[in-house]
Amino acid sequence: METTAETATRPRQDEWTSHLRSHGRRVTKQRLAVLDAVDAVPHATAEDTVRQVRSVLPNMSVQSVYVVLADLATIGMVSKFEPPGSPARYEIRTGDNHHHAYCTRCGLIQDVPCAVGHAPCLTPSQDHGFTLLSAEVVYRGICPQCQHDIAADTLVAQ
Ligand SMILES: [Zn+2]
Ligand SMILES: [Zn+2]
Repeated sequence: METTAETATRPRQDEWTSHLRSHGRRVTKQRLAVLDAVDAVPHATAEDTVRQVRSVLPNMSVQSVYVVLADLATIGMVSKFEPPGSPARYEIRTGDNHHHAYCTRCGLIQDVPCAVGHAPCLTPSQDHGFTLLSAEVVYRGICPQCQHDIAADTLVAQ
């Protein structure tokens, strides 16, 4: 099934097109559909992305979506983030060195701007001679909705 390129007029897609070309990748509707899916639902799992892409391109195999996603991560268009004890999530790479807040109760993920403003953000007490590129920071906590739910549960229990 061929899909139309009606979404190709969006500025975001021009950016993606030139980024893909600069990495020697052909601009295919499959690659654009995966980028679109990741863009539409930031921090989605690969499984969510597969579902989203296949709602647009039903003939694209699950395996192909995984391959494209991994390739986009390799060329730095998509970044992968692994919350503790939860499947990897993907988002369009922004290059702003942002971090993530993860609700350990419901799994909600929110972006948190880099505390320092540039990578690696955290200065270790011992760098072992490494040239540090980045630090991955995950703030674990309880989101406002869960705090509210917990408070409500406590009231009911009393
Ligand atoms: Zn929560
Ligand atoms: Zn993020």
